[in-house]
Amino acid sequence: MNIHEHQAKQLLKKFGAIVPNGEACFTVQEVLEKAKKLNLKKYVLKAQIHAGGRGKAGGVKILDNLVDLEKAAKDLLGKKLVTHQTGPNGKEVKRLYLEEPSNIKKEFYLSCLIDRASSKIAFISSDQGGMDIEEVAKKDPSKISTIKINFSDDIKDEDCKKIVQNFNLDDDANLKCINIIKSIYKTFISTDASLIEINPLILTKENNIVCLDAKISFDDNAIFKHPELLELRDLNEEDPTEIEASKHDLAYIKLDGTIGCMVNGAGLAMATMDIIKLHGQEPANFLDVGGGASKEKVSAAFKIILSDKNVKGILINIFGGIMRCDVLAQGIVEAAKETKIDIPLVVRLAGTNSEEGKKILDESGLKIISASDLGDAAKKIVKQVK
Ligand code: GDP
Ligand code: MN
Repeated sequence: MNIHEHQAKQLLKKFGAIVPNGEACFTVQEVLEKAKKLNLKKYVLKAQIHAGGRGKAGGVKILDNLVDLEKAAKDLLGKKLVTHQTGPNGKEVKRLYLEEPSNIKKEFYLSCLIDRASSKIAFISSDQGGMDIEEVAKKDPSKISTIKINFSDDIKDEDCKKIVQNFNLDDDANLKCINIIKSIYKTFISTDASLIEINPLILTKENNIVCLDAKISFDDNAIFKHPELLELRDLNEEDPTEIEASKHDLAYIKLDGTIGCMVNGAGLAMATMDIIKLHGQEPANFLDVGGGASKEKVSAAFKIILSDKNVKGILINIFGGIMRCDVLAQGIVEAAKETKIDIPLVVRLAGTNSEEGKKILDESGLKIISASDLGDAAKKIVKQVK
């Protein structure tokens, strides 16, 4: 789960990090009221969407007075902001963040994430932070350093020193930076985050260290431990079909192709997508129905796949381990009747009770095309949608 910049900053502040003062706003009027209260010489107005690259797309503005601020707020609210992270359709701006401006002397990059390969927490830092960090990563990776640390409740001073080394700060700023790193680490551990990214972390002309931008992603598998974080979820930022899928405990990711996939197991789902591509077509989705798919679950999965108007055919690929193929076949038949499927349906069943399953499909009276193996299934569905 991702949250907005303003929420991430409030959370980091709670754990002791330094962030600029600011207020989230949902209307132009609210922006003006809050600006009058803040009473500043200049204002920073930032579009709040779950995507980076806003600066380059015109989603971050510095305004000299209330007249310009009002204009900028009117312009941004309701706008579809297209950044290099949103995809071509962009994301509609529904909230803004009004902030006091900072005097930037230098921009750094700092992030903290789980390094699965080493089972450690990795801090990534660079003195070339800001809006071109992707370019730096590509062209001059030596400017980016990674420090891996062992899981524990606190981060050691010696690790903090290694992380800030390439920032080349004076003693005063160095200490401030180490304190921020400790706050970030505490936030990371306490909230079961999977990523905290501060880009830029800045050195101000007043020699302070401030988190000027913040992105936090949480581990969905641990979110049940943090009901207060769940309240920060913004459903506007999520795909409606993915929200529906999560209600039924289905792992569904919408993609751009024409072949809908219903598979049990993430690995098998990946393999199914690969083999569709191998045969020259594109999958419309990733969908893992999980180990114990009931009729209700299969039915919900059908409805979700069919709500995608690009879908021209569905490939069901099930390996019956704990799940019995005959039970699943019964679920497919009932769900297919209920949802009145009128596009080609290719089914490949293997494993426990697969023969019984095939028999149920064959005798169902539905136009279901049976496949003997994964390659055969891919060939058949590709032929059908062509
Ligand atoms: P992103 O482009 O979506 O990552 O948005 P950021 O929050 O990182 O802002 C983009 C850029 O705007 C930063 O790298 C800064 O250079 C600039 N910026 C943001 N806030 C301020 C500010 O208070 N003062 C100044 N001078 N620049 C700012
Ligand atoms: Mn940024």
